[in-house]
Amino acid sequence: MAASIPTPLVIASGNAGKVREFAHLLADLGLEIRPQPAGLEVEETGSTFAENARLKATAVALATGCWALADDSGLAVDSLGGAPGVHSARYAASDPERIARLLRELAAATGPDRSARFTAALAVADPSGAIVLEVEGHCPGLILEAPRGSGGFGYDPVFLVPEAGLTFAEMDKTTKGRIGHRGRAFALLEPGLRQLLGAG
Ligand code: IMP
Repeated sequence: MAASIPTPLVIASGNAGKVREFAHLLADLGLEIRPQPAGLEVEETGSTFAENARLKATAVALATGCWALADDSGLAVDSLGGAPGVHSARYAASDPERIARLLRELAAATGPDRSARFTAALAVADPSGAIVLEVEGHCPGLILEAPRGSGGFGYDPVFLVPEAGLTFAEMDKTTKGRIGHRGRAFALLEPGLRQLLGAG
């Protein structure tokens, strides 16, 4: 019997941290994972994570003619009115500057005023650009006063998950994949993705 050909799935993101996490989460599915085309920029004009995930999945599917998986994610801090929220990537120019700005804005905040939550909205588009799956995952936590840990990306070093007693930057990939917002969203997506792409 001929071996089945893996279906290509393009990860609709230029963020190396997200792409690494998806490579780990998708490892068991036997799909051919492809990066999005170099130089492709999708404008995130939506006002919600879900809307932006849909925009990215559709644009990348249309540009490649492949199935596309997009993630729009970010951090919402209660005492900052939900900021940085959908603007998490645009909050400052680099990861260290984004963290520095967040810590500055929270300089006077203590206890529950440092509570926050990460959200990951995932959307899958078929090769025609139609959205066929959508899910959202969340992870509640607290913003520390100083970074801890050296793994991960983005705001990971200042985001403490109380149930684990660790920041995202102190967790191994498997732990973040189990309790993090992206991993929780992926767990909801996985059965549908397996069915649609005939993954193993
Ligand atoms: P976007 O989804 O490309 O608009 O960007 C999301 C931004 O939110 C990233 O650039 C990070 O700054 C932040 N972010 C999203 N997910 C994570 C995460 O798992 N850890 C740390 N920061 C994250």
